[in-house]
Amino acid sequence: VKEDGRDGIAFFEQAMQVAASERLAIESELRKAFSDNQLRLHYQPQVVYGSQKILGAEALLRWQHPERGLIGPSAFIDVLEQSSLIFDAGRWILARACECIAGLLTDQLVNPDTFCLSVNISPRQFRHPNFVGDVLGAIRQHAIPTRCLSLEITEGIVIENINDTIDKMNELRQHGVHFSIDDFGTGYSSLSYLKRLPVDLLKIDQSFVRDCTGNANDAEIIRAIIAIASSLHMDLIAEGVETRDQLNFLHAQGCDQFQGYLFSPPVDEHRFRELLASGG
Ligand code: C2E
Ligand code: CA
Ligand code: CA
Ligand code: CA
Repeated sequence: VKEDGRDGIAFFEQAMQVAASERLAIESELRKAFSDNQLRLHYQPQVVYGSQKILGAEALLRWQHPERGLIGPSAFIDVLEQSSLIFDAGRWILARACECIAGLLTDQLVNPDTFCLSVNISPRQFRHPNFVGDVLGAIRQHAIPTRCLSLEITEGIVIENINDTIDKMNELRQHGVHFSIDDFGTGYSSLSYLKRLPVDLLKIDQSFVRDCTGNANDAEIIRAIIAIASSLHMDLIAEGVETRDQLNFLHAQGCDQFQGYLFSPPVDEHRFRELLASGG
């Protein structure tokens, strides 16, 4: 038994080493990608029910690899978030998003009173002591109305350090920056926490949307999330909407804002501008 145990540990350690060296390889490639300007933001439209008018978008990170083509974040986001590169990359993402907003406003492709671009914020990026300064710096650098920028945070960020979270959110909120809770329902934040947060929008996670028309549990969870949002006076958006049936179910439950392949996949800035120009 002891021998087996040792083997088990040895095997585990070996597997960890493989994973660790692979991480290091990805990390050093990512550093090069960052300094060689291979990171991109793509934009996925967010629409209102009925008119299907584009009211905003979510900025999503991509890696334009010279040999392997366009790589989505699932292949590298964990490595990025666990390396110190997340701080520089996070600042770049914020600056690029603000630059994009500024261009859309200059070319009058969006309405400054209604359009909002959401940016995903990783927990370590949020915890950085100068996070508030970084966000405000990016907004000032590109001279955009603060209300045009929204930050997506996860429940994980909230429960890690509730007081620091609330302080930072309130400070940014005072300047007009909006917040949404991403992947809502997949984390562990309690309602008493949520109630204390200056959050404008809950995003219904795509894992609940996927089977909402076939799975009674998921349908119930969506009803519960919608009830929570309404009692906390928060707006709602459903992500990962792929079918008309999902759309109709969600709308019947009281959700009016949508994001998903049914409307558009994430697209590059050029294509996003075309979508806006053609009236959304
Ligand atoms: P997320 O924030 O939950 O983003 C939603 C994901 O769902 C995106 O994947 C999007 O492309 C995908 N999606 C959109 N519509 C549909 C649909 O109808 N069906 C399906 N099956 N999927 C859909 P993506 O772009 O691969 O991003 C994955 C995750 O990587 C994101 O999940 C987010 O957690 C992270 N991420 C992306 N960009 C950034 C970033 O700039 N910073 C940080 N910190 N994380 C990012
Ligand atoms: Ca998100
Ligand atoms: Ca999400
Ligand atoms: Ca997700």
